[in-house]
Amino acid sequence: MNVTVVGAGIYGLCTAVQLLARGHRVEVFDRSSIPNPLASSYDYHRLIRHAYGPQVGYSQLIPGALQAWERLWELLGESFYIETGALALGPKHDPWISQSRKTLARLRVETEDWSVERAKERLPWLRVGDQEELLYCKSGGVLRSGLILEALGQYLRSKGVVLRENINITSVSKGHITDRAGKQYSSDHVVCALGAGHGYLFPGEIRAFRQVYALYDAVSGTASIEQGCPMILDIGDNAGFYYVPGSNLFPAKVGDHISRLEGHPYEARTIHPEEIASLKGVIETRLHGNFGSLIGSNGTSQANDSHPTRFGLCFYESTKDHIIQLQSGKGGTQIFGGSGHGFKFGALFGETVAEYLAGNRSFQSAQEIVQGKGMP
Ligand SMILES: Cc1cc2nc3c(=O)[nH]c(=O)nc-3n(C[C@H](O)[C@H](O)[C@H](O)COP(=O)(O)OP(=O)(O)OC[C@H]3O[C@@H](n4cnc5c(N)ncnc54)[C@H](O)[C@@H]3O)c2cc1C
Repeated sequence: MNVTVVGAGIYGLCTAVQLLARGHRVEVFDRSSIPNPLASSYDYHRLIRHAYGPQVGYSQLIPGALQAWERLWELLGESFYIETGALALGPKHDPWISQSRKTLARLRVETEDWSVERAKERLPWLRVGDQEELLYCKSGGVLRSGLILEALGQYLRSKGVVLRENINITSVSKGHITDRAGKQYSSDHVVCALGAGHGYLFPGEIRAFRQVYALYDAVSGTASIEQGCPMILDIGDNAGFYYVPGSNLFPAKVGDHISRLEGHPYEARTIHPEEIASLKGVIETRLHGNFGSLIGSNGTSQANDSHPTRFGLCFYESTKDHIIQLQSGKGGTQIFGGSGHGFKFGALFGETVAEYLAGNRSFQSAQEIVQGKGMP
């Protein structure tokens, strides 16, 4: 079968690699260069974690997702994963944490309850309230997302796959795509994996939201991966804070996972002062001033503040209930949505979509996996 993949983010590229592995001919299109630095998938890091609060189905998929990444590293000849472990924290009896604890126990994923004192000793720059609880899981970590996209692109090129860059697709109908200039390309099947661009081709189903985040260059000491700092998450009902530990390979990142404003993902990006002010407010609730002493010479922070070195802006696609969607119809097969947690499933869902298209898995089974309702 000849398959056209539109969108060279993590879903499009993983699907292309897996179709190729199953003997299909693939061509990949993107509106930008491949990879697109403005894609949701393109960054220093994306996180993979077991704790998923009430989204039990996605928690169940994590062991399979980690195995799928291992299979991909084997194919690419290099691993782009760094295990850091994950520390979830929030108010005592926070349903997000208690649900995660229950689910992980059922899945036999090892966890530890940390005392507030232990957290303060290990991570003295982290603000932890005396009435908070902490759940640590040693599995989980950082996927080096930008490098993964580059490696996938190189792999496909090395296998003779044509990657068509800077072609903005404006319509899709079974087996045919049309670009902005009206040129049509035909194949047996089209897969669209458009990320935050999905709603422009398939209006009404999805919206692109801005995510401002803070970066800290040259972080060292107990806030670094080298000294065993885990990713830190406070993402219960009333909160939004995550910390990606820095390393000598990449900066640390703080985000709040709160979707504030819509926007166009591929237009010039300006971060508004109110977005920075709001994120700084979140940072101050979790990072002590002494965090500044862990930022090296590249950072702008002084010893007694927790101000970031710089800010970034990225878009993700927001869907109802944060569920990732797989659809099949007039526009071929589409995978989209999820509200900012989909990268970790890139390798697994690439396999899932390819298995469905190759006739080795029913559409319903593939859809259940993508929606977090079924096991691979
Ligand atoms: C700040 C931030 C933090 C995040 N953190 C995490 C995390 O820690 N863990 C996690 O699992 N997930 C995380 N996510 C979510 C994750 O990044 C996304 O779910 C995932 O990358 C989406 O991949 P994709 O392939 O669907 O989309 P994308 O990576 O956006 O790729 C879509 C591609 O389609 C192309 N395209 C779009 N429209 C067209 C068109 N009309 N014609 C041709 N090409 C087109 C684009 O140029 C782009 O290259 C985060 C997202 C953001 C923004």
